[in-house]
Amino acid sequence: MDKKIDLNRLNVKAFAREGLGLQGQMSLAQFGRLAELALSPVESSLQDSEPPTEVSWDIQAELVPISGADSQIWMYLKAEVDLPMQCQRCMGPVQLLVKANATFRFVTDEATAEAEDDESEEDLLVLTPELNVLELIEDELIMSAPIVPKHEKCPNLVPMSAVDEAFEEALEARPNPFATLAQLKNKPN
Ligand SMILES: [Zn+2]
Repeated sequence: MDKKIDLNRLNVKAFAREGLGLQGQMSLAQFGRLAELALSPVESSLQDSEPPTEVSWDIQAELVPISGADSQIWMYLKAEVDLPMQCQRCMGPVQLLVKANATFRFVTDEATAEAEDDESEEDLLVLTPELNVLELIEDELIMSAPIVPKHEKCPNLVPMSAVDEAFEEALEARPNPFATLAQLKNKPN
């Protein structure tokens, strides 16, 4: 396909007829709803060292011939993003790899989708002349994201107040001349 493909308005049928695949990477900022699940760059401690978060995706489509009926349109979607989130256990930043993997079959109308949904492993979508693939990628990633993001093992974070207290205790623990004198007095000969 020579012409530029608009991922907001993909002609799935033509795409499948050609048996095409598309891969790409896009900045997380282009997926507004997904970006809301992520820590903002200001909150994330990774902001200085890390490049901007990117969403990688891959879609393939094909026409599957059915004897005595119209060919079926199938689409396979994979996407992943290394999402900066907030750990709900220690409240620190955590990078979580979110992966989506979905298979869609396109049907002609909503009634067919409802009728066949129960016995279908794949997700059924009603065929539209223009499919918003980016929205689909975003939906799948949002559904794959953890509801309660957590470190597998939280790093041992020492709360700042404890550090301050320990520092002050250390200052107070400096030996003073009178204490040393008392120690000498009590020392057995
Ligand atoms: Zn944690």
